Amino acid sequence: MQKVIIIRYAEIHLKGKNRGYFERVFAVNLERALKGLKHELHRLSGRYLVACFDESRTEEICDRISRVFGVHSYSVGLETGTSMKELFEASKEVCPREGTFKVDTHRADKKYPKTSMQLNAEVGGYLLGQFPALKVDVHTPQHTVYLDIRENGTALVFSAFEPGVGGMPVGTSGKGVLLISGGIDSPVAGYMMAKRGMSVELLHFHSYPYTNDGAKEKVKELAKELARFSHSARLTTMNVAHIQEEIHAKCAAELNVTLLRRFMYRLAERFARHIGGQCLITGESLGQVASQTIEGITSSNAVVTLPVLRPLIGFDKDEIIAISRKIGTYETSVLPYEDCCTVFLPEFPAIKPKLSFVEEEEGKLDVEKLMEEAMATKEVYDLSEI
Ligand code: ATP
Ligand code: MG
Repeated sequence: MQKVIIIRYAEIHLKGKNRGYFERVFAVNLERALKGLKHELHRLSGRYLVACFDESRTEEICDRISRVFGVHSYSVGLETGTSMKELFEASKEVCPREGTFKVDTHRADKKYPKTSMQLNAEVGGYLLGQFPALKVDVHTPQHTVYLDIRENGTALVFSAFEPGVGGMPVGTSGKGVLLISGGIDSPVAGYMMAKRGMSVELLHFHSYPYTNDGAKEKVKELAKELARFSHSARLTTMNVAHIQEEIHAKCAAELNVTLLRRFMYRLAERFARHIGGQCLITGESLGQVASQTIEGITSSNAVVTLPVLRPLIGFDKDEIIAISRKIGTYETSVLPYEDCCTVFLPEFPAIKPKLSFVEEEEGKLDVEKLMEEAMATKEVYDLSEI
């Protein structure tokens, strides 16, 4: 008898012909999540089984499994032989000591000498004899002891379903570039897209020497926290200080933020094309700040042709904060830091910038030269190695 973890996957089964591909990516992601912890991963029909692990680390293994997108639910249980003695012993170990219960048997091995009904009755009877505080309720039991009689002469016995995080395996929905600031929203936006199976590359703009290393360190920390879900810990940074100086010196003050956003989008698109990224991802939420009005979004969207995904567009701040707490980025996001957007911040930023005025003001700048300069400041950090 050994402890095992049974993992069930979520939407993967919907994918018809692609099922094999989805399962392979899912298995790779599970292996990646369990890296460094002794284990074996086996594929069963419609499920995966983690076995041969150090039982004292069960909790850590479950914690990592609970963050892999595509996991619908998982159960810690026992793998044992199929003799009645072994089934009794395993059931006794997983069964709660009191309350109402039933036994639910699934027989993949149709040649097994007893029917599911017989097994339910015999194991149920045995458990009642062992634990006097248990009562049978086959309709709405508090607990269910599951017996899964497999074709290979072993059985899986378990009694609890833990919910997984859901979503799709990361890597099955293309690749996007997340514009990540040090704030609350953008890490949540990256999480949301990774949850739908997208590989997420991180891009951060800083404004050294106007912003200090603290801002960059903070984003590195956020990148590491996100990597626990998305498996990619690569962060690229670019310096936009000179772009900001030029905007500040030459353009209407109220358009500072609008113009900077357009540079960020352009740089992100150029970066995406270099690395095979298929879209940009931002943490914008409609109406949250001056630059996130539909006019502001129209102005930045106008400079790129790749799709811009804004998974938080309809979310309230409270809702975004709740997710950021859940995924563990909140505490880092609220640390004080100077964002490049707050450098040269005008007193009255334009809330509804008119595209023609924005383009006219931007005409005063050598956009291509500034872009090339900023691209040349690119630094890449692989945070999985830090
Ligand atoms: P966040 O909480 O993500 O900082 P925010 O509510 O502060 O968002 P803005 O500052 O208007 O909103 O930024 C909107 C979006 O633009 C961010 O969610 C992010 O995707 C992108 N962005 C802003 N600043 C940066 C930056 N310094 N580097 C990269 N992307 C940025
Ligand atoms: Mg911000």
